[in-house]
Amino acid sequence: MRIKIASAGEPVLRNVARPLTREEIGTDRISDLIAYMHETLADAPGVGLAAPQIGESLQLMIVEDKAEYQAALPAEELAERERRPVPFHVLINPEIELLSPPEVSFYEGCLSLPGFTAMVPRARAVRVRALNEAGAPVVIEAEGWYARILQHEIDHLNGVLYIDRMWSRSFCSLEHYNRHWKPKPASELNREFRPVK
Ligand code: ZN
Repeated sequence: MRIKIASAGEPVLRNVARPLTREEIGTDRISDLIAYMHETLADAPGVGLAAPQIGESLQLMIVEDKAEYQAALPAEELAERERRPVPFHVLINPEIELLSPPEVSFYEGCLSLPGFTAMVPRARAVRVRALNEAGAPVVIEAEGWYARILQHEIDHLNGVLYIDRMWSRSFCSLEHYNRHWKPKPASELNREFRPVK
């Protein structure tokens, strides 16, 4: 079963999601929701999904950056983005702390804004405190692309989309991204699109 992903404009994406209660965690309803989200993420495919994206205004998100998604990408691109495989995991009621300023910009996409991409400045490193699907506390320290995924998904739980943070001049369709911008080095893209202060 494939669930429709909410796209920009749907009010649920702009709400602050409510935390799960202790009692809810581990129930069949939440376990089913996690399974549906996992299936939807794999189908998309994507590397992260937040419950509001499937119409559920809950502080629940999943992350999975499979090695197979990275196999087709140039080693240089993976190294520049500090992108490494991240196994599937669930985060509930997460709280995020930026461990560096939000100054690293790369093109980023979102399943709720299909067909578009933009450069989004993010912190290189973050610390996240959350509960897992069993209700146990977890602390994650993440860097690079994993830190970006966490920032993006936790934004969803707070009603924030990447377009709220993007360098707006870089916003483009995937078609134009692939044709014009993908081949350029990061340094050139930074010069081209960094907002003038
Ligand atoms: Zn998104």
